[in-house]
Amino acid sequence: QVRTRIAPSPTGFLHLGTARTALFSWAYARHHGGQFVLRIEDTDVARSTQDSVEQILASMHWLGLEYDEGPIYQMQRLERYQAVAQELIAAGKAYYCYCTPEELNAMREAQKARGEKTGYDGRWRPAPGKTLPAIPEGVKPVIRFANPEEGDVVWNDLVKGPISINNREIDDLIIVRPDGVPTYNFAVVVDDWDMQITHVFRGDEHVNNTPWQINLFRALGAPLPAFGHVPIILGDDGLKLSKRRGAVSVTAYEEAGYLPEAMLNYLARLGWSHGDDEIFSREQLVAWFDGSHLTKSPAQWDAAKLEWVNGQYIKAADDARLAALVKPRLLKRGLTVPDTAPLAAMCALFKDRCNTLEVLADWLAMFFGSVQASEADQTQHLTEGARAALQELAAALKEAEWTPAGVSAAMKAVLTARGLKMPQLAIPLRVLVCGRSQTPAIDQVLALFDREILMARLQSA
Ligand code: GLU
Repeated sequence: QVRTRIAPSPTGFLHLGTARTALFSWAYARHHGGQFVLRIEDTDVARSTQDSVEQILASMHWLGLEYDEGPIYQMQRLERYQAVAQELIAAGKAYYCYCTPEELNAMREAQKARGEKTGYDGRWRPAPGKTLPAIPEGVKPVIRFANPEEGDVVWNDLVKGPISINNREIDDLIIVRPDGVPTYNFAVVVDDWDMQITHVFRGDEHVNNTPWQINLFRALGAPLPAFGHVPIILGDDGLKLSKRRGAVSVTAYEEAGYLPEAMLNYLARLGWSHGDDEIFSREQLVAWFDGSHLTKSPAQWDAAKLEWVNGQYIKAADDARLAALVKPRLLKRGLTVPDTAPLAAMCALFKDRCNTLEVLADWLAMFFGSVQASEADQTQHLTEGARAALQELAAALKEAEWTPAGVSAAMKAVLTARGLKMPQLAIPLRVLVCGRSQTPAIDQVLALFDREILMARLQSA
């Protein structure tokens, strides 16, 4: 039974990198008919917040990454970690260390001065015939893992291939802090063991932690999961994607008007591929995602491509759904949107021109609030002659049937009466009524307007 997990730390929004790892973990579990678990790694008590937990859960839900178990909170499992730490001590595989921060600092400085690799020197590690220092007064000990001193830690990474680290490179890790809270590397192992995780996908930045974790799994006699370290995501500028250089949270893209399925599709292509396929459904992703074709090299964030992908999904989206998604965006702009407004028909007419829901809202705003064309468009197109023609059109429209055909007939009547060509009426009309000189077919646009609003706008010519 394949079991995967995502284990975010609730210290902010759901980061795009974490969302992508969650997606891989979810897709891998679904592909194998397995389970996907959500664990909240909240042991950094000072930085973890309930607000962040809620943001993360909301983003997971928005992306449609349903989990089969969880959320499981690490801070609710402290007793379990402490019990496991005690078992390790009893088995001689962990020990108390009473070094003060000052002592550790001095140790590091001395190592540096001697040109040695820095790390814990094992002074509190028990050994046959070794006398340990006297327990100092008033120091609360940490618990350290007695890392094996010989041999190599070897694993075949699902993304990076075979990796081997010699145990001499690894010092004795702190597994429980003086306040009884476990460190990341220890809690993650106890949890992955207890939750029977078979495959761990996570960010590259954890690859140096994995040797410690593998040694801990072995010391506990726990089955070893497979590990896949997914490369980092680089921003448009080639640097690590970070808050300082643009949106990095799933929420930010939701707010900017991206569809969850577009986001999912785009994220899946960051570090994974299926031939040349760029647009694929959630079902296809699940069918294809078997852990192969994961890329070793860093993935490049490409905002323009994401926008293009989103545009593809908007064009293909159901109009009623788009209407429901765009309405709150219009209301947020302070516009009044009557229940009778033909929002779905509006979405149908404009969606081909929109890469985000915000751009769709920009278009639809003309139906509900005033518009303001640029000075240049006004001077060029709203001439005396054009204004007179628009007044005449207002009169003709009073009697017209409120359909594209009815509007079109009224426009033709004005053209004939004044000896004008279509653009001579249609462009001033667009500038006045829509606030821009280019729109979809004007008769279709006009027929979507509330009649009174349109009349008032025409008469203002
Ligand atoms: N809390 C860790 C993180 O968010 C989890 C790493 C892991 O998946 O083991 O980076």
